[in-house]
Amino acid sequence: DTTHGAILYLEEITVSFDGFKALNNLSLDISVGELRCIIGPNGAGKTTMMDVITGKTRPSAGTAYFGQTMDLSRMTEYDIAHAGIGRKFQRPTVFEQHTVFENLELAMKVDKRVKPTLFSRLSSEQKGKIDEILKLIRLNGQEIRLAGLLSHGQKQWLEIGMLLMQEPQLILLDEPVAGMSDAETARTAELLNELRGKHSIMVVEHDMGFVTEIAQQGKVTVLHEGSVLAHGTMQQVQADERVIEVYLGR
Ligand code: ADP
Repeated sequence: DTTHGAILYLEEITVSFDGFKALNNLSLDISVGELRCIIGPNGAGKTTMMDVITGKTRPSAGTAYFGQTMDLSRMTEYDIAHAGIGRKFQRPTVFEQHTVFENLELAMKVDKRVKPTLFSRLSSEQKGKIDEILKLIRLNGQEIRLAGLLSHGQKQWLEIGMLLMQEPQLILLDEPVAGMSDAETARTAELLNELRGKHSIMVVEHDMGFVTEIAQQGKVTVLHEGSVLAHGTMQQVQADERVIEVYLGR
């Protein structure tokens, strides 16, 4: 077992763009049920790392393991998505002309590879699942609202709900609280803390207040120049001289 029980194990990944190493011998693993925060200054390689995990970018060297056996560096983006890695980009992409409920329903059908037709009969189990997710994403009571009429924060939550409908084994969130109000940011932290232990999640985020909220029981990895600069609790990485230097430019 090369992955030591991790859901994701990046082993010495290098990504070169014309000789420039966006990732430089990066190793990192995520345990099952872990909520991991990834931070780092602009250009640290966070997006490139997500692109490697989702098959958008091929590593020049190294291997990305998913589960016990899958080698992501040999799979297509499509196959990786179907193998159970869900990614949420920074901007919400919900179906604006459909209701909140329909958005969740469509997300479920996309996953089952069934032609997405609305209003076909849902099983009580499927309805139960949608209800459960509506509560989790703080949109219960809003199911017949058009998604296009939701606030920015609500759209972000709906998209997280749509990801959850697909029951991914690993969830990647790219700056989930960018553009949110303080209240929305606080609720997003609550939401993610509720998912801890139930889902394996990697969050890339710049908002340090938010990271502090969700990292209280978890670990933070700091990337810099394509490698791991520091790893530990938020207190540990905040006290790390190298991290302070990179962030404050001293
Ligand atoms: P972050 O998400 O942490 O801000 P990125 O992964 O976007 O960092 O970028 C890491 C480095 O790689 C940056 O210096 C960026 O300019 C460079 N880079 C990213 N993608 C490409 C590309 N397609 N071609 C050339 N350089 C790239």
